[in-house]
Amino acid sequence: MSGEWAHKIKAEHLCRDAWLYIRQSTVRQVFENTESTRRQYALRQRAIALGWPTERIHVIDTDMGHSGAERDREGFQQLVTEVSLGRAGIVMGLEVSRLARNSMDWHRLLEICALSETLILDEDGIYDPGHFNDRLLLGLKGTMSEAELHVLHARLHGGVLNAARRGELKMRLPIGMTYDDEDHPILDPDQQIRGALRLLFETFERCGSATATVKAFREQGLQFPTRPHAGLGKGQILWGELRHSQVLSILHNPRYAGAFVYGRSRTRKGIDGHSHTQKLGRDQWQIVLPGSHAGYITWEIFDTNQQQLRDNAQAQGKERRKGPPREGVALLQGIVLCGKCGTRMTVRYTSLGQQLAPNYMCQRHGVEHGKAICQQIPGAAIDEAIGRLLLEVITPGNLEVALAIEQELRTRVQEADALRRQQVERARYEVDLARRRYQRVDPDNRLVADVLESEWNEKLRALQTAQDDYERQSKRDQRCLDEKQKASILALAKDFPQVWNDQATPQRERKRLLRLLIEDVTLIKAKQIQVHVRFRGGKTRSLNLPLPQSSWQLRQTDQHVIEEIDRLLDHYTDRQIAERLNEQGLHSGWEQAFQPRIIARLRKDYHLKSRYERLRAAGMLNNEEMAQRLNIQPSTVKKWRREGKLKAHAYSGRSDYLYEPPGDNPPLKYQRQHSRKREKEPFVSDSTVEV
Ligand SMILES: [Zn+2]
Repeated sequence: MSGEWAHKIKAEHLCRDAWLYIRQSTVRQVFENTESTRRQYALRQRAIALGWPTERIHVIDTDMGHSGAERDREGFQQLVTEVSLGRAGIVMGLEVSRLARNSMDWHRLLEICALSETLILDEDGIYDPGHFNDRLLLGLKGTMSEAELHVLHARLHGGVLNAARRGELKMRLPIGMTYDDEDHPILDPDQQIRGALRLLFETFERCGSATATVKAFREQGLQFPTRPHAGLGKGQILWGELRHSQVLSILHNPRYAGAFVYGRSRTRKGIDGHSHTQKLGRDQWQIVLPGSHAGYITWEIFDTNQQQLRDNAQAQGKERRKGPPREGVALLQGIVLCGKCGTRMTVRYTSLGQQLAPNYMCQRHGVEHGKAICQQIPGAAIDEAIGRLLLEVITPGNLEVALAIEQELRTRVQEADALRRQQVERARYEVDLARRRYQRVDPDNRLVADVLESEWNEKLRALQTAQDDYERQSKRDQRCLDEKQKASILALAKDFPQVWNDQATPQRERKRLLRLLIEDVTLIKAKQIQVHVRFRGGKTRSLNLPLPQSSWQLRQTDQHVIEEIDRLLDHYTDRQIAERLNEQGLHSGWEQAFQPRIIARLRKDYHLKSRYERLRAAGMLNNEEMAQRLNIQPSTVKKWRREGKLKAHAYSGRSDYLYEPPGDNPPLKYQRQHSRKREKEPFVSDSTVEV
């Protein structure tokens, strides 16, 4: 063996330096796999045996702790530089093919080695890349090592995927969830954390927006837990103000709905060599197992929340009209249930002229399973009926509902109060902890004792702040409930009709009132629309509404406008009628200004006699008939009309006229008489209105 080696090593190799390249992929390997490191350093001894002086053997191990897949590996770059400058006589490595982890780098190194006549040495032997056989072998080694890496990766990933399919893959859980002793996800046993999450979901359900949820927490002076995954306080529970991004990530996280999910994002290597993580749509998630563990909300509510967030996002964007804006007209948004299948119905708006008309849809199952949607009910009439019902129910004499609202508000305040009290308790617990820590330490150990003492003091101050906050907030709440709230509830009952009917009241405010009063509304579309209203406090009412008119009926032009058109047709052309109606401020069923073509269409739709038919019925003659009657050329008739010698009426916008019959007088006399008359009083007729 050594004979074979000796013949590859020449004097020109020995007069250049030897480079030993040592690489460990991960920091853990550096610590655990010392055996391999020792083998790598043993190569150094081999170089000495082959004739390189110790001082000219360089070791590159700057890549320790870097994975070969990382592009900017300094050590490897240095090696390539040394080789290409012709300063290296031999390159050594444990498994040389692993010098470079992608085969492109590896083949480039081989090429450079061949050009600069540099040898390569690994545990198996010594290679001269200038020789075809050696280069082939080295190339093969590179390919094999890449393949091996791939298989390893695939096996690892396969194992992960299998565990994920069973829902047993242990993944990092979001705040509020934790693993029990059997590695099964459970709700965090900490009551305060649980309470905070529950309140977050409830608040979102009530307000329908992440921003409003953040606001509500801030107004109530409530804190929210986080558990940082890195940096200071890693793994600990920290309490702080609730942030918008937190709300979003919690609402989007299906684990809170008790679902195991895997593969919500995909990481790919981009053309710039960096990894890019891309979030996937729900239909592209690799594994979704609803109901695989306990959760804070149901899968249905998770769905509703997603829809709500999507709608909110749309409301901000270009497609504003498609989504329900906060001021959206649908009164019952968020509290409508489908009476056929029990799921929550969503709102979709269709535009009717200038206005948006709400439609309550039960489409979730339909969309998900590619079936027809369950039911779709135009909402305008329902909203109106609910409004009437509220006006009927909320009277000063009927305080039952008002009191139910008060109860509701009281419970909400109590919930917030309990959470705040827990905040104080936690602060007190932390003081205790700091105190015990301080008491345990030897007082003579001043360095430690001082630090612990100041920590204790700090915790005491935090407790004081928490207590003050608590007292201030609960005093404010009490005051709110006792005076203002009670008064405003009574005032609400009294002023309700006024507030409700006031044009200036924003729709958002009406929705808020409605939500205070009504728990939910169930809709069933049959021969009639059945509306079941459940008030807060348990009372129910049922309404039956006629099926709403179809959209063309809704867009029907008012009957009195049609009558007006009918009247005007006796005197005017379509164009003139359109102008007159627009002057009166009337509009068509589509809320558009009138155009001659709209008048023409309405005439046809409502079977109104046209101006032409009316004039003919009144005995007016057309051009040819007039010419015949007067025994003149049709062109003369036109000329005479222009000169005002003949009385005529326009019946279309294209200067089409019908003539008043001349009577029994001979044409010439008629003409003379007529012109005299014209001199006395200028002939005015509606026909002179040129259109
Ligand atoms: Zn349904």
